[in-house]
Amino acid sequence: MSVLVVGSIALDTVKTPVEEHADQLGGSASYAAAGASFFAPVQLVGVVGEDFPESEFEFWKSRRIDAAGVQRVPGKTFRWSGEYAWDLNTRETRSVALNVFENFEPELPETFRDAKFVLLANIAPALQSHVLDQMRQPRFVVADTMDLWIETTRPDLEALLPRVDLLILNDSEARQMTNETSLIRAGRAIRRMGPNYVAVKKGEHGALLFGPDDFFSCGAYPLEDIHDPTGAGDTFAGGVAGYLASVSGNEVDFAGLRKALIYGSVLASFAVEAFSLNRLRRLTDEEIGDRYEMFKLMSQFEVLA
Ligand code: AMP
Repeated sequence: MSVLVVGSIALDTVKTPVEEHADQLGGSASYAAAGASFFAPVQLVGVVGEDFPESEFEFWKSRRIDAAGVQRVPGKTFRWSGEYAWDLNTRETRSVALNVFENFEPELPETFRDAKFVLLANIAPALQSHVLDQMRQPRFVVADTMDLWIETTRPDLEALLPRVDLLILNDSEARQMTNETSLIRAGRAIRRMGPNYVAVKKGEHGALLFGPDDFFSCGAYPLEDIHDPTGAGDTFAGGVAGYLASVSGNEVDFAGLRKALIYGSVLASFAVEAFSLNRLRRLTDEEIGDRYEMFKLMSQFEVLA
């Protein structure tokens, strides 16, 4: 079953202590769609300007990402620029140019409105709600957000949450949203705001998953070489939503969500191995399978005879 993905499509300029690359494909929807496409066909919704390379449409086609919901409009594509500190954990946003994003109103093609799995990648919560308004009967809605929306458009975010099945956010955002220092308390408090499930990402320290009766904690895949952490969270969300859609014969339950979190972590671990989406462009199903198995072995603490 396919996944509808909406979010930002950007041209990013990213600087790390060793490298800098300008105007590369980025944006929450780009990473999320690529991540999800390893598991399920994707219906992509977003906006780009006249300067957006045609070759990226070819890339989407090659990855069974249907870009019928990507509007190309007069003006420039959304641009974001960030710089990482030496530890590759702290990041400073250098500039943001909304450009064609400023007047963006996501409009779903008729054929997208029946999608059962939806990933609202990071964009303004009012736009995320606007997408849901156009859908007929989604079965499972995953949403991502960021500190900016918690700070500036909190009422919009609160209106969205009861319509979301799984909210994904990182540890600092969970604390910011609840004023709780304990992530356990924060995760539970966010569940009370609406979403049945909440996933809290802890960067290189893994993730936590909260459900009505269950709790799950997993590590992150230990990587030696990180080149560009940009989009790790978006790729994680894409992997989660894509995996859930791929097992859509089953009801989404906690066991499925646990596996989805591992697949999300595996996908994110590949995304950061190269700049922009370059690692995802040449990633294979076999590599994903191998890393998933490795994850399983590493997480086992009772060694079987
Ligand atoms: P992450 O590393 O998961 O925070 O995601 C980084 C991506 O988010 C970059 O590719 C940016 O283009 C995109 N991005 C940055 N700021 C925003 C924003 N305000 N709204 C939507 N996408 C954004």
